[in-house]
Amino acid sequence: MKTEFSLAQLADPDIAEADKILRACVHCGFCTATCPTYVLLGDELDSPRGRIYLIKEMLEKDKPPTPEVVKHIDRCLSCLACMTTCPSGVNYMHLVDQARVRIERDFSRPLAERALRAILALVLPRPGLFRASMIMARLGRPLAGLLPTPKAAATPGLLRRIKAMLALAPKRLPAPGPSGGSTFPAVGERRGRVALLQGCAQQVLAPRINQAAINLLTRHGVEVVLVKDEQCCGALTHHLGQDGDALARARANITVWIKEAEQGGLDAILITASGCGTVIKDYGFMLREDREYAKSAAQISALAKDITEYLGGIALNPSSQKGDLTVAYHSACSLQHGQKITGIPKELLSKNGFVVKDVPESHLCCGSAGTYNILQPDIAGRLRDRKIANIAAVKPDMIAAGNIGCMVQIAGGTSIPVVHTIELLDWATGGPKPGLTGPGLN
Ligand code: SF4
Ligand code: SF4
Repeated sequence: MKTEFSLAQLADPDIAEADKILRACVHCGFCTATCPTYVLLGDELDSPRGRIYLIKEMLEKDKPPTPEVVKHIDRCLSCLACMTTCPSGVNYMHLVDQARVRIERDFSRPLAERALRAILALVLPRPGLFRASMIMARLGRPLAGLLPTPKAAATPGLLRRIKAMLALAPKRLPAPGPSGGSTFPAVGERRGRVALLQGCAQQVLAPRINQAAINLLTRHGVEVVLVKDEQCCGALTHHLGQDGDALARARANITVWIKEAEQGGLDAILITASGCGTVIKDYGFMLREDREYAKSAAQISALAKDITEYLGGIALNPSSQKGDLTVAYHSACSLQHGQKITGIPKELLSKNGFVVKDVPESHLCCGSAGTYNILQPDIAGRLRDRKIANIAAVKPDMIAAGNIGCMVQIAGGTSIPVVHTIELLDWATGGPKPGLTGPGLN
């Protein structure tokens, strides 16, 4: 694609990067077929190619984005299916990330929308506040039925979004898990030492996921540390275009993880929420122009691994499973498109005695996508219904996924139990049977 940036514009490293990405696009349109919003809405401007044109124009003109541009960028899930499909290697992720920052900086959203985004950015990355808000939302849940049902609209209103938020609130909250600063020694001879990302929403909604990871790792000779003063990885605010907050969190985490690696040694930083993993693996790019942090950010990105990537490299205990449970494996977008991890989780599950079924249309997002199911509840709801129908077609006993956002989204529309892949692997290799009706997941 031909671009028309001036030399002055190209002196900005972000614009130079955007120029490189835009020039790689040959506008073949292959990406449209796998884009969930294009599949649902059939509008070229809701396809990757259409959005690429909109972003190109916004950046070239260097003017505040129009409401039309904002509408179509806001509808993008950042699922990155387009990157998997693109034959030219267009890095849509870095382009849309830049567009979201521009929109946040230069576009004045309506007051109610600004307030909602500010609340999400304040609450979601802080487990204490998130827990309190979940308790309040649970109390407010009965009121959701009393609220009028607004009509589906191109841009959903505040009422529709509040209803979506209340619907996502769990019926019960589990007790908090272990806190930062805890170390879990290896059982027997120590073969490795890792940090485990504590996560934000996950540690409130389902601390059992990291507990299963700790059980499994320590049982297999790996010491696990929950690093003190670790923060939210920044993914939530990054996807809202609030890069000042996201980068501050990235720097804070890099500081404490590098310190831990220097003091105790770390073979890896393991992540059980793939949405977080995709962003941490991108710290090196996000901070490439930061003289103080660029090198350590790249080191941290190299250490970051999804839990299944790490487990693929160690010998697990013999499985207790007898092959009589069928698991539908939901491939989270952030794992399959963001991190290109597709085979390992399924191989681990089948090697450990589960009958694993692929879900039809597995490349399509379930509609969770961070805060998308709150900000775009109508599209998110349609994607969830489609995902659940596809899952039901393989008649599973349970659904396994590697991302808490997907787990909550899918569990909200089905009675089939939803568990994290690590819970099944822990169970198969000597851990407890997962509670199949966890908070928010039943
Ligand atoms: S598939 Fe790639 S090259 Fe083709 S239009 Fe989409 S982004 Fe551009
Ligand atoms: S990230 Fe997903 S929703 Fe956005 S343009 Fe690409 S395929 Fe479509």
